[in-house]
Amino acid sequence: MQNLYDLSSSELESALAGLVSPPFRIRQIEEWLHVRGVASFDEMSNLPKELRASLAGNFTLAFPENIEVTTPAPDGSRKYLFKLADGNRIEAVYMPMGERTSVCLSSQAGCAVGCTFCVTGFFGAGRNLTPAEMLGQLFTIRREHSIPSEMLNVVFMGMGEPLLNFDHLVTTLDIMSKTIAPKRITVSTSGIIPGIDALAKLEHRPNLAVSINAPDRKRREEIMPITSKYPLDELIASLKRYPVEKGREITAEYVLLAGYNDSHDDAVALARLLRGVKAKVNAIPFNPDPNLPAWMKRPQDAAIDRFVNTLVKNGVRVTVRRSKGNEIAAACGQLRGKTEPPPRRRRA
Ligand code: SAH
Ligand code: SF4
Repeated sequence: MQNLYDLSSSELESALAGLVSPPFRIRQIEEWLHVRGVASFDEMSNLPKELRASLAGNFTLAFPENIEVTTPAPDGSRKYLFKLADGNRIEAVYMPMGERTSVCLSSQAGCAVGCTFCVTGFFGAGRNLTPAEMLGQLFTIRREHSIPSEMLNVVFMGMGEPLLNFDHLVTTLDIMSKTIAPKRITVSTSGIIPGIDALAKLEHRPNLAVSINAPDRKRREEIMPITSKYPLDELIASLKRYPVEKGREITAEYVLLAGYNDSHDDAVALARLLRGVKAKVNAIPFNPDPNLPAWMKRPQDAAIDRFVNTLVKNGVRVTVRRSKGNEIAAACGQLRGKTEPPPRRRRA
């Protein structure tokens, strides 16, 4: 049966047209789905009982099943583990940030990009998530914490590469944009250039974050093998032509690895690389994990400060990501969707 949460607005209207009349009923159903995010037809209390029964006989509204929620970390963040209908597991993170709340969503049940510093990459490829599976993460967390949509930020920084799941991502963004302003939604990519160019053509664009992570091609290729397919200079060119809305900036994410890409010279080189790109840097001190290479370490605070100060001196705006959820292994790059021990060890 067709899951109505997998359909864009126009697809939903066509799917319902034969079954639902008059037309205002379709708008009511759309509101229950896209604004309220209900998990069952029974909750659609302003629809006649017979209509609810006939909808339930023809369609489903299934979300992924939330099978575990971690106890909150000291900063209040919690990790949500979901089981998909085919048994795959994915994770999302709830992060209270004062007035606002951020929710970090997964876009794939794994990741084929294989960055060497990333736990999701370590566990390997997984299939694309459907719109219902992406929306379900958000709606489940939103409901559990009674978060009004206007207080939400959504970031696609969980498991997977969102721009390799482009069509489902666009449907999901369209539906989310009904309740959350696109400037409150961020899509993070490892630098899939055709995906960035396709995102540029959308009428309502989310914020773009790009994982740069190294100041030159050689090192980027070492830790992000995708660089050999989408070279760093071409990636930077795609960011220069990207239409950035007034008042917004691209976020250049940069995972800081002690002694590898965190020196004064690296900061100078990064500033030079980003010249001409309307971007700020988000420095992310590396989050260690037993599955990742042992040489990868989080820099000392003094090294992080030096790196940040050098960027600032070179005219780059920069923020440092406080690793939300680190204590419960829910920080970025630590989502795996797996509970069993790893299948293999990669590097010592
Ligand atoms: N696939 C997308 C989005 C998910 S990864 C992307 O790569 O952008 C989200 C962010 O987490 C990326 O910026 C990535 O560089 C970062 N990240 C991955 N592993 C990490 C780790 N172990 N420590 C810190 N940041 C990490
Ligand atoms: Fe995939 Fe992003 Fe992890 Fe790289 S950092 S392996 S692209 S999830």
